[in-house]
Amino acid sequence: MIRTRFAPSPTGYLHIGGARTALFSWAFARHHGGQFILRIEDTDIARSTPEAVQAILDGMAWLELDHDEGPYYQTKRLYRYKEVIEQMLAKGDAYYCYCSPEELDAMREAQRARGEKPRYDGRWRPEPGKTLPTPPSGVQPVVRFRNPVDGTVAWKDLVKGTITFSNAELDDLIIARADGTPTYNFCVVVDDWDMRITHVIRGDDHVNNTPRQINILKALGATVPQYAHLSMILGDDGTKLSKRHGAVSVMQYAADGFLPEAVVNYLARLGWSHGDAEIFSRQQFVEWFDLDHITPSAAQFNTEKLRWLNQHYIKVADDARLADLTRPFLIRNGANLDDGPALTAVVALVKERAATLSELADAATLFYRTLHPTPELLAQHVTADVVPALQELAGRFETIAWERAAISAAFKETLAAHGLKMPKLAMPVRVLVTGEPQTPAIDATLELLGKARVLERLKAGLPAHKPE
Ligand code: GLU
Repeated sequence: MIRTRFAPSPTGYLHIGGARTALFSWAFARHHGGQFILRIEDTDIARSTPEAVQAILDGMAWLELDHDEGPYYQTKRLYRYKEVIEQMLAKGDAYYCYCSPEELDAMREAQRARGEKPRYDGRWRPEPGKTLPTPPSGVQPVVRFRNPVDGTVAWKDLVKGTITFSNAELDDLIIARADGTPTYNFCVVVDDWDMRITHVIRGDDHVNNTPRQINILKALGATVPQYAHLSMILGDDGTKLSKRHGAVSVMQYAADGFLPEAVVNYLARLGWSHGDAEIFSRQQFVEWFDLDHITPSAAQFNTEKLRWLNQHYIKVADDARLADLTRPFLIRNGANLDDGPALTAVVALVKERAATLSELADAATLFYRTLHPTPELLAQHVTADVVPALQELAGRFETIAWERAAISAAFKETLAAHGLKMPKLAMPVRVLVTGEPQTPAIDATLELLGKARVLERLKAGLPAHKPE
């Protein structure tokens, strides 16, 4: 049974990199009919906040990355870490170290002075036949892992290939601080072991932790999981993705009007590919997903591509759902949704050209709020020579049945009577009725707006009609 986990440290929000890690871990479990576990690594009390935990849960829920177990919280498992530390001490795989910070500083200083790489010199490490110093009184010791001194530790990384570290490079890691709290790498090990994780899929900023974790797992007699380290994500400009690049929080994309299926599809392609497939559903992704097609090189974020995907998903989305999703954006635009046509119909008309829900709302606002054209637009389009034609058009509108074909016919007849071309008349109508020169097809827009509103806005912007 394949078991993967996502193990975020809740110190901010669910960012794009974390979401991609979560997605790949989730998809790998789902692809194999395995289980996906959510674990909150909140032992850094100073930095972990309940709001940050909630932000992660919200992000996961929005992306619909459902977990089979958890969320487990490391702060609720402290008893377990203590228990394992006791066992390791008893077995001799861990030992107390009474070095004070000053002593450690002096040790490193001396090593540097000798031109050596600074490292813990093992003075409290028990060895056969070695006499250890007498523990100083009143000093709370830390607990260190007794790392093997010889040989290498290696794993076949499922993304990066074989990675080997020499044990000589690895210090005897502190696994419990002087106050008894366990350290980060140790908690990860105990959790991956207890939670029977088979595949650890995580960011490659953890590559240096992996040899230490493997050595501890081996000391515990635990099965070592397989590791897949995902390369980092670069921003549009080729530097490591960070806040400087604008939205890096997944929920910010939600707030900006991106659809979760677009973001999932986008994240799926950040470092993974299936032939040249660009647009695919979540189900298709799960069916295709494997670790063999993850690229070991860095992936680059491309906002334009995300917008392109979002536009696609808006186009194919169900109109009733889109209407629901667009409503909050419209309200933010000051639209009065009780006074206007059915939002589903409006969304269907304007969605073609929107890359985000926010743009969709901008295009739909005119149906629910009178938008006043600027004097410049009025001066440019509602010129004296076209006013008589506009007045005639308004007159024809009064008498016709309000439907697209009849509206279109009224335009044609007015154009013919005044010897005008369509844009000459359509532009001022757009400006007067919608406040702006760009709208979807004018006849469809007017039909949806309704006769009363169209006539009211047309007349408000025109001098009174004076019949000859
Ligand atoms: N908590 C770690 C992080 O947020 C991840 C640990 C892991 O996946 O092993 O970077």
